[in-house]
Amino acid sequence: MGRNPLTTSPAGTNGQLDGALAFRLATIQNRAVLVQNAGVYDLEKHSTGRFSADPMQALERFRELHEIAEALPDVPDGAVSVAELGICVPRSQKIFAVGLNYRAHARETERQPPATPLVFAKFRNCLAGPSDDIILRGATTDWEAELVVVMGTRARDISRAKAWDHVAGLTCGQDLSDRETQFANDPPHFDLGKSFDGYGPIGPYVVSADQLEERAADLEITCKVNGELRQHARTSDMIFTVADLVAHISSVCTFEPGDLIFTGTPSGVGRTTGTYLQPGDTVTTTIEGIGTLTNRCVAERA
Ligand code: ZN
Repeated sequence: MGRNPLTTSPAGTNGQLDGALAFRLATIQNRAVLVQNAGVYDLEKHSTGRFSADPMQALERFRELHEIAEALPDVPDGAVSVAELGICVPRSQKIFAVGLNYRAHARETERQPPATPLVFAKFRNCLAGPSDDIILRGATTDWEAELVVVMGTRARDISRAKAWDHVAGLTCGQDLSDRETQFANDPPHFDLGKSFDGYGPIGPYVVSADQLEERAADLEITCKVNGELRQHARTSDMIFTVADLVAHISSVCTFEPGDLIFTGTPSGVGRTTGTYLQPGDTVTTTIEGIGTLTNRCVAERA
């Protein structure tokens, strides 16, 4: 296989990418695994002790994952089953999110596109896996499909030109939002309404940035609820690019490996029509070249 990621073929409908330089990092029962073709490989085992089972350590040394991925044997430890995968970045120190970052979404909220990135926080308790249930905590939980950036280095004051050197990979995310909490005051406050337990499913894998750097600017992103298309856009509608966001946030905060940036959602959120998630609904979030999250909504137990 060629070493140039630009020579690899485009993603198939299952979100798989080819290419020797690619890695897809996931977790199974809290152990880091690499996913290649249709198989999973335990990272500690296949790195002959260079890596521990800790996925956070793997992200810190993301450049070395390419060598491991390249040397994987033909026969995997097992077949990949998304239902078995856990949270691909389980212990982010910081999770940033960006409001109104798609032109069409800014229009649907009847707000002017922001002049600088509108950054808020999601807290770590919101992280959930690619097929975890969403435990609804109110009657106004809304969907927001988002491209999520996974940082790979400790760095501050990163220039736009160097931004991608610090990105370990990309994953797919849902910035689930309790609109009642978000808009309880004027001005609205984003952090708590978007930080209910489990309101931030990510995954299924961290896909290496080198596979997606060129393409991150124009990936198809969709959200379906019960199979009906609610959001359908391309990341080319983003106002601030991944590089813009990395540069802007790092001008304030030092990034740590495993920090996340939810880069904003396209138009088509439920709030526009007053339609929110109900127990029994299934939310399917897909980004071309990365994969799909499938999360079922359930009522909170009394
Ligand atoms: Zn969002």
